[in-house]
Amino acid sequence: MGMAPEFPVTATGYESVLSAVIERSVGPQAVEIDRTGAFPREAVQALGEAGLLGLLSARNVGGGGESLEAAAHVIETVGNRCASTATVMLMHYAAVAVIEAHGPQDVRRLIARGDHLSSLAFSEVGSGSHFWAPIGTAKAGPEDGPEDTVQLDARKSWVTSAGHADSYVWSSQPLAGQEKAASAMTLWLVPSKAAGLRVAAKFDGVGLRGSASSPVSGVNVVVPADARLGDDGAGWDIAMATALPTLLVLNAALSLGIMEALVAEAGAHLARSRLQHLDQALTEQPISRAAFARLRIRTDSVRAFLRDTLEALATGRDDAALRVLEVKAIAAEAASEVADGAMQLCGGAAFRKELGIERLFRDALAARVIAPTTEALHDFVGRTCLGLPLFDAPGA
Ligand SMILES: Cc1cc2nc3c(=O)[nH]c(=O)nc-3n(C[C@H](O)[C@H](O)[C@H](O)COP(=O)(O)OP(=O)(O)OC[C@H]3O[C@@H](n4cnc5c(N)ncnc54)[C@H](O)[C@@H]3O)c2cc1C
Repeated sequence: MGMAPEFPVTATGYESVLSAVIERSVGPQAVEIDRTGAFPREAVQALGEAGLLGLLSARNVGGGGESLEAAAHVIETVGNRCASTATVMLMHYAAVAVIEAHGPQDVRRLIARGDHLSSLAFSEVGSGSHFWAPIGTAKAGPEDGPEDTVQLDARKSWVTSAGHADSYVWSSQPLAGQEKAASAMTLWLVPSKAAGLRVAAKFDGVGLRGSASSPVSGVNVVVPADARLGDDGAGWDIAMATALPTLLVLNAALSLGIMEALVAEAGAHLARSRLQHLDQALTEQPISRAAFARLRIRTDSVRAFLRDTLEALATGRDDAALRVLEVKAIAAEAASEVADGAMQLCGGAAFRKELGIERLFRDALAARVIAPTTEALHDFVGRTCLGLPLFDAPGA
């Protein structure tokens, strides 16, 4: 990663920095990154040098001290051009939320100056999207290791920026043999170069192809005991207060960026395509217009809901937690519907690569299966509104 000598982003200034990086690095590479599945290293480096990896870092460690609303704007804008790069950024921001609250000063400073990329290593082979139930373990002081160390073992099923990030915010079962709640976990900051970590396979996905979202195995990974992020067993509460609001809101912002790109491409296609036998553009066909309007309305409704969620969070409204649980489910489902609608509206032209709609279609599909998935969020929203806890007590 490059190093930003001085944080160039101010409360009002990051938009111009952002658009310069997007025009120079993010946008021009998007098609090639999708075609080859290469990690967008140059774009991420440029975003780091522009201060945008440190956007959410506190000012007292040299960061931007910006709000989640600013990060949502960054993710929407980057995602509008390259959803893979936006996914790398949003997993980084979610990890940063934990590191800012519980991580060491030196790493916080590196992040603030754009010299450290992080990611979340929550999902596991053994519990799938139920990331609140890690199977991976943490054992105090391996016999052949130094004192005050912890040994981590896990089979992580998906880690964005795998092998490219500098660190992972890693979940495990609690250290101590405490009574196991349905959502008991402990969080660790694990350097990606730690011995015993292995990127188990190259990512070759249908969409977000440059996000390097690979499985990572950890065997006898030894970290200092103080690599723990927060108290033992407190991982779920920490995630709920830090990583999850960030992840849910920013994932919705990414879906919005993809939807805006789909609507723009579809509108441009309707305007330039002509039915010569009728001497009309497709915009003059009422059925095409109505189909286009449905895409626009769906996208605008997500924007309104995302704005309301951000306002609820910023003002501490009573319904803020509920809005956060709702916003990704709404945006992810809308993105899949708008992508499908744009494919149908633009027909054969969308089925080919040149419009870019098929890439956006593939990228749009990931949000609903990124945890918490739509199904999990529906259950959480139902439980919240019915006065039930998010998880049943063990044995219930
Ligand atoms: C591009 C991409 C990037 C990712 N990056 C990361 C990352 O950086 N870090 C990370 O930790 N994870 C990451 N993930 C993993 C993600 O968060 C999910 O854990 C993963 O996609 C779940 O896949 P699965 O098939 O293992 O889940 P499963 O649990 O097998 O789920 C499969 C489907 O079944 C549904 N389902 C599961 N349980 C139930 C139930 N009880 N009732 C009803 N429906 C249910 C789910 O909603 C889902 O639709 C990423 C995933 C993708 C696609």
